[in-house]
Amino acid sequence: EKYTREDILQMAEEEDVEFIRLQFTDMFGTMKNIAVPFSKLEKAMDNQCVIDASSMEGFYRNEEEDMYLHPDLNTFCILPWRPQQGKVARFICDIYKADGTPYRESPRYILQETVRKAKEKGYTFMVNPECEFFLFHTDDNGMPTTVTHEQAGYMDLSPVDLGENARRDIVLTLEEMGYDVESSHHEIAPGQQEIDFTMSDVQETADKLMTFKVAVRTISKRHGLHATFMPKPKEEVNGSGMHINMVLYKDGKNIFEDENDILGLSREAYAFIAGILEHIKGMTAIFNPLVNSYKRLVPGFEAPSEITWSSGQRTALIKVPSRRQREKEIELRSPDPSANPYLVFALCLAAGIDGIERNLEIPEELTKSIRSMSEEEKNSQGIDSLPENLSDALYELEKDVWLKEILGTAFFEHYKKAKKKEWKSYMKQVSDWELEQYLYQI
Ligand code: GLU
Ligand code: MG
Ligand code: MG
Repeated sequence: EKYTREDILQMAEEEDVEFIRLQFTDMFGTMKNIAVPFSKLEKAMDNQCVIDASSMEGFYRNEEEDMYLHPDLNTFCILPWRPQQGKVARFICDIYKADGTPYRESPRYILQETVRKAKEKGYTFMVNPECEFFLFHTDDNGMPTTVTHEQAGYMDLSPVDLGENARRDIVLTLEEMGYDVESSHHEIAPGQQEIDFTMSDVQETADKLMTFKVAVRTISKRHGLHATFMPKPKEEVNGSGMHINMVLYKDGKNIFEDENDILGLSREAYAFIAGILEHIKGMTAIFNPLVNSYKRLVPGFEAPSEITWSSGQRTALIKVPSRRQREKEIELRSPDPSANPYLVFALCLAAGIDGIERNLEIPEELTKSIRSMSEEEKNSQGIDSLPENLSDALYELEKDVWLKEILGTAFFEHYKKAKKKEWKSYMKQVSDWELEQYLYQI
């Protein structure tokens, strides 16, 4: 444990903390919080702060039920972007029911359970996400637009790169909060940025990603820019992905390595990949949770649309390191930054271990560009596609009984209901595209 109760009381006192935010993430990956004044800090640490879950999306909507927030003391941190006099601190919380048992639909709980089960088998899971996002201008009313005046491209330098100051400020703030930032760069599309973390414990990383998004939005705003994690804000350029680099350890050793293999990968590594490929269709409903997510997963923008793995083809769904690369980590490239990181990590871990336990055989490696292959060629090699839209993905999730168990039946039912509603609301629209295509001709 990093902090005791006494440590926190002392830090809060010394730092003149006036408010404490009790944060948690809902099933859709949105961070929520309530703020309590300093005088209620002890009450909060006694797990006595309550939220009324009946009015929250994704919670038991019709059952009137109070939920208790249990702050995770290790997540105590002062928010650097809030006033420096009368500071604001936060805890990330677990959610408990009135009867004292954990609320099983909490994404943080789903991840904790998955990690606990993996630990029992001796596994530790480390991840390193690459989070992409756009910085856009706001209009005269302060509303976000999709306008960027930038023309910079991949890893360009200033003065073309207007986002540079914002990005610099973000990285410095994250470091102040104890983040270990691996690197940051301008991405391919104008206005697009990427910040990468270092490999670290999966639970810690999920918490960090949630805070990261708040920090990015808040700090960008100070620079007069709107940050968005929307997967595909502009049709004509790349969307934003959240690639996940993963390593599985057993007894302190990276078990993806095997010197004797042609790619330097172990039997476990291949089985782990096979496990992810086995469940990827259903998992897509979680990895790519928005209607908009599927507009990113199309050919031509470096995002995957087929179910493949490769050491040489960098746009494959799963990218494995080449023989030369020393650190053996597997990169999953389909998730996007609108996904709930707790769930993404839980499913990657569970599916990978499922692959290892069932000793699944990995399909053949993709060795040439998928774009150069005809439909027949893909079919003959058994290359399947990711679900093409949210509705298909939900159907795949429904079919994967194993996956539903990892998420929990109640979670699954609530999630499906909300997402179906989202899909229906989208589908009943009449879009500009349709008017252009049909109004005149038909
Ligand atoms: N932006 C691309 C995506 O949608 C990824 C580009 C890259 O390889 O970093 O996943
Ligand atoms: Mg990138
Ligand atoms: Mg990548």
